Amino acid sequence: MALVDIQERIRQAERAADRPEGAVALIAVSKVQPPDRVEAVLAQGHRMFGENYVQEAAAKWPAWRDRFGPLEVHMIGPLQSNKAKQAVDLFDAIHTLDRPSLAQKLAGLQQTRGSLPRLFVQVNTGEEPQKAGVLPADLPAFLRDCRAMDLSPIGLMCIPPEGQDSTPHFAMLARMAAEHGLAGLSMGMSGDFEAAIAHGATHIRVGSAIFGARSYPV
Ligand SMILES: *Cc1c(COP(=O)(O)O)cnc(C)c1O
Repeated sequence: MALVDIQERIRQAERAADRPEGAVALIAVSKVQPPDRVEAVLAQGHRMFGENYVQEAAAKWPAWRDRFGPLEVHMIGPLQSNKAKQAVDLFDAIHTLDRPSLAQKLAGLQQTRGSLPRLFVQVNTGEEPQKAGVLPADLPAFLRDCRAMDLSPIGLMCIPPEGQDSTPHFAMLARMAAEHGLAGLSMGMSGDFEAAIAHGATHIRVGSAIFGARSYPV
């Protein structure tokens, strides 16, 4: 689907939810996509992208930043602590703060460099054992620990279980964000972004609907 069609669907979903136009930021998820597809979207003026792998992003984005000017790249994949330093230099936002050891690592980096990318805490709303993210019951303590380390996450992120209705997960994430005074809600992908917008998403992460199917599964 063309970028303009996705943008139009976002506008419609914003209107349907009585939200202001532009309330929702579109993160175009470019992981493992052929460069020509990404460059086509850059050429159309889009400037916010999502990546899952530090190595891959490091190989692609510095040159595109030089060529296309200011843009944002968001880390939406699991972040290993040993890649945290590279990640904070590369990304404008990290959506996958999901454990105390990573929080500690990021807090240390903030001390030495004075700033950090914007942070979202990933919540494992489906309580899936194989999935990253803070369990809902552990979120209050995790946020307290983050704040004690001077980290100030701006929002929450979730990836609902596959094959299930996403809407209860979106509703739960929105409720938890409101409880904790967090304005950001990173939720909704190609198959469910309109439902996410209806539940208050501020950042949707859309890959295949913009770029086409990825050439290998990730
Ligand atoms: C790959 C990915 C997306 C994009 O998925 P699509 O279904 O292609 O839109 C969104 N969020 C995360 C965390 C991803 O890993």
